[in-house]
Amino acid sequence: MALTYFCSEEIAEKSWMIKNVGGSTPAICYLVEGKDYALLIDSIIGIGNLKAYCETLTKKPIRVVNTHAHSDHIGGNFHFDHCFLHHRDIRFFYDCVGLKKEKVFEFAKNVVPEEFREQMVLDDNFTDWDPIRIFPLYDGDEFDLGDRIIEVVYVGGHTAGSIALIDHKTRICYAGDCCNGNTLLEFSNSLPIVAYLKNLLHLKEHQAEFDKMYGGHEIFDASILDEAIETVAKVVAGTDDKYEVTGMMGTPVFYAAAKKKGEYARADGKRFNMSYVPSQVYGPTETKQVFNVEVLFPEED
Ligand SMILES: [Zn+2]
Repeated sequence: MALTYFCSEEIAEKSWMIKNVGGSTPAICYLVEGKDYALLIDSIIGIGNLKAYCETLTKKPIRVVNTHAHSDHIGGNFHFDHCFLHHRDIRFFYDCVGLKKEKVFEFAKNVVPEEFREQMVLDDNFTDWDPIRIFPLYDGDEFDLGDRIIEVVYVGGHTAGSIALIDHKTRICYAGDCCNGNTLLEFSNSLPIVAYLKNLLHLKEHQAEFDKMYGGHEIFDASILDEAIETVAKVVAGTDDKYEVTGMMGTPVFYAAAKKKGEYARADGKRFNMSYVPSQVYGPTETKQVFNVEVLFPEED
């Protein structure tokens, strides 16, 4: 039964893109198999048993890495006993842990298209988000799968602990939500835009190592990275389009590039776009964590 929730496509040698069946705006995750073990990159929303599905694709032991800790990337983690996560998203991850499956189920229903929602069932495959082991990741870490190396590149912005993962064998960059047509930088735990720009320039240092960016919702040619840097630099300079819409949290946000009226696409035909709130453009660019009272006691301030 659980397997009907998923479909997959082999996008490169021993590399699968996995989505929930149906739905026009899917969350996407990836399974990459090496000689010694397989790496699951993100685990989407948690409906269905993703672990059982992955085991139909690979017979190797599986380890899970998350590109960041948003709920549409970590839901399937809880069928495993562990995950690897950039150290700056661990605290955020724990904010989600402890949620009961009824709550997570409601949560998941809100992020899937209607046609998929109809087949979602609250059953034993939908787990409580109980604590699991989290192994902290740092920029430059590598997963050595035996015959392929997957490198961690820090691209904080969308969340403070967002990463991309570069598969040197297939020249694919698994980008999570760090750079796409709707890069959301409007959250309270998104980094200042100046820090995001610095981190995109860090990813740019790796551009010779990949041709494609397979993200958590969209897939792009690697050239979108140049559009991202150009667009984000305009935000920092204050010369972007400041296209105002109502954001995910119900408050006004800006998109850096104007969109075609009533559409998702940019008016100028380019692909990268990002949302942000004006008060979060400038701020610290260093990667250290600062545990001040606002960070540690967000309710009490
Ligand atoms: Zn996200």
